[in-house]
Amino acid sequence: MWNEFIHERENAVVQEVYPHGIHAAIAAALGSDDEIDVSTATLDEPEHGLPTSRLDAADVLIWWGHKAHGQVSDDVVERVVARVHQGMGLIVLHSGHFAKVFRRLMGTPCSLRWREAGERERLWVINRSHPIVQGVGPSIELPNAEMYGEPFLVPEPMETVFVSWFEGGEVFRSGLTYQRGAGRIFYFRPGHETYPIYHNPAIQTVLRNAVHWAHNPSRPWTDVADAPNVPVDAAPEKISARGPSLHRPGEAGLR
Ligand code: ZN
Repeated sequence: MWNEFIHERENAVVQEVYPHGIHAAIAAALGSDDEIDVSTATLDEPEHGLPTSRLDAADVLIWWGHKAHGQVSDDVVERVVARVHQGMGLIVLHSGHFAKVFRRLMGTPCSLRWREAGERERLWVINRSHPIVQGVGPSIELPNAEMYGEPFLVPEPMETVFVSWFEGGEVFRSGLTYQRGAGRIFYFRPGHETYPIYHNPAIQTVLRNAVHWAHNPSRPWTDVADAPNVPVDAAPEKISARGPSLHRPGEAGLR
């Protein structure tokens, strides 16, 4: 569970809601599931708490950031993106829509509309048989939420799991699934830091479900980004080379 961990230390309102940080609140919620072995990392730690050894050992990474997206080192971003391609699950929360890791994996602006008015939000479950929504019923109601509105500039998802309605009239695709390489990604909207949203039992259920859904039990696909030059005599069917070629046999491709 990764958190930039800034607002909880700087803002008295946020501190009251999450005295030990959003990461600690979510870790506690995940820890009630015997099958989830949870640990936390924050921006200020060396390598943001995400050295290669730790990422290699992680099955699923949850990302919470808001104020300091720009302070996340590009080396760590590349490392996280590579691990997702190899099969690590990634869950991106709320303002993480602008996190470098998410924008890199989406390839789009990831922009949206927003308003801080403490209005009511209802997240409607779209597919009631989806593993991520088990145990939450037909909808989740949050009495106070920050509004996020469409258009949300992300690629068309694999599946839209939640659509939110807001008291002010806007709607938003609040739960979206993606596949990138061997890795599964879930974007989940709720979580403005001045409201106790990660203390909500239904939201905690979604987070636990999402960890299970995003977990890929296969061994990491470590050479997923390679582009090998397959020798003519290694073709599955017997062929002989004909015509001119640009590359010498065995030569590496261009990048
Ligand atoms: Zn927010």
